[in-house]
Amino acid sequence: MRRLRAAAARGLRRRGSVSAAPTVGGSRKGASLRGGAWDSVRLPAVHLFGDPIEIEALRGRLLAWYDKSRRDLPWRTLAAAEPDADRRAYAVWVSEIMLQQTQVATVIDYYNRWMQKWPTLQALAAASLEEVNELWSGLGYYSRGKRLQEAAKKVVSELSGRMPRTAKDLQKLLPGVGRYTAGAIASISFGQATGVVDGNVIRVLCRLRCIGADSSSLTVTDCLWNMADALVDRSRPGDFNQALMELGATVCTPKSPLCGECPVKEHCHARHRKLFAKSTLVPDVEDCGIGGCPLCPPAAEPWDSSLGVTNFPRKAVKKQPRVERTATCVLERRGRLGTPEYLIVQRPSSGLLAGLWEFPSLPLAPGLQEEQQKEVLAEHLQAWMGRPLQTQSLCFVGEVVHIFSHIHQTYAVYSLCLDGDVALDTASSPSRWVTEEEFRASAVSTAMKKVL
Ligand code: SF4
Repeated sequence: MRRLRAAAARGLRRRGSVSAAPTVGGSRKGASLRGGAWDSVRLPAVHLFGDPIEIEALRGRLLAWYDKSRRDLPWRTLAAAEPDADRRAYAVWVSEIMLQQTQVATVIDYYNRWMQKWPTLQALAAASLEEVNELWSGLGYYSRGKRLQEAAKKVVSELSGRMPRTAKDLQKLLPGVGRYTAGAIASISFGQATGVVDGNVIRVLCRLRCIGADSSSLTVTDCLWNMADALVDRSRPGDFNQALMELGATVCTPKSPLCGECPVKEHCHARHRKLFAKSTLVPDVEDCGIGGCPLCPPAAEPWDSSLGVTNFPRKAVKKQPRVERTATCVLERRGRLGTPEYLIVQRPSSGLLAGLWEFPSLPLAPGLQEEQQKEVLAEHLQAWMGRPLQTQSLCFVGEVVHIFSHIHQTYAVYSLCLDGDVALDTASSPSRWVTEEEFRASAVSTAMKKVL
């Protein structure tokens, strides 16, 4: 309790003070508060790390915990054992791209297969997009694989196979490599002391410093990147960044953080605040005490004591996904030995699910009833079959819903069993007949697997 009171006193002393060091957008110029507005200014010290002794202590605790508790992951093993800097950077790069929006447990198998098939940049650059899509099938966000391969081609053909060595150059020269991925590759592979900010880091830093403003706002984003750069350990930047992300993934989790086991709990303002809220000795405070603070939660969303540390971070306002309906038809014929075969066609080489294979499909205008859907679908199918099709032969099977990142997609699924062979018109779009086994090994999306 004595420690709590001391922390409270420190926090309260800081109320009303403004940092003289880190600034938004890297600028150190300007007054702290002009006419009530914050613009490229210094931020309240209570939300920042300004004490070098505290930073040193936090680094030490986090790294000691990471050395003891880190998960064995294939990309870590590869990067640690690889003496060649370009191969090491490639191994890290592939993992970082696969891990975007995807769970570690899902990525491991894909990563191992990928690295076995294409162990070097040169091997990946020589692969076809079809092969990349096949291996990526089921991992989602297919443009990631495509862009990874395009970037590998660029490194091989334009940069003599040598990966750019700094975060700035990685971001500038490689398509599909953003600020986060560039920082991760540079710090883990080349030892550059540069911070990274991903979803896990946002959560940890916002809790450590009670940042409750919209975490997607420019002010908060700039603040977090500056903080990550200031905190990163100078001698072990790659390990430090991975440790911060590992903490967010395994201890400081979104809904049930394990604060009692947290190696940096001593430095955590959200935890202090939660404990104060329970204490009758220290009055609760709604914000840091700086009027109009751009990092505190909005006044309309005050601290909710039932949420504890999960008051932070505030969720970014999510855009509602677009609602779309698509008619899709599973065309089936009897192949050799009577095995069922299905017609799949290839999507265009750009846009959503670029280059992937699917059952013949077409977007539906809103409000179309089943009979009208059959009519437009029958017309669409004629393009491949080269002969008229009776709408009665189409059988409605049901609906499949699939959520893409920005689209709420409903597939109205129809089936059609064909007698005899059909001559396909492949002029408009590539198409082929596949058995179920071949279908599953093809570059098809998860949504199409659900349809089947
Ligand atoms: Fe997260 Fe709790 Fe650790 Fe704070 S003490 S960083 S809230 S796990």
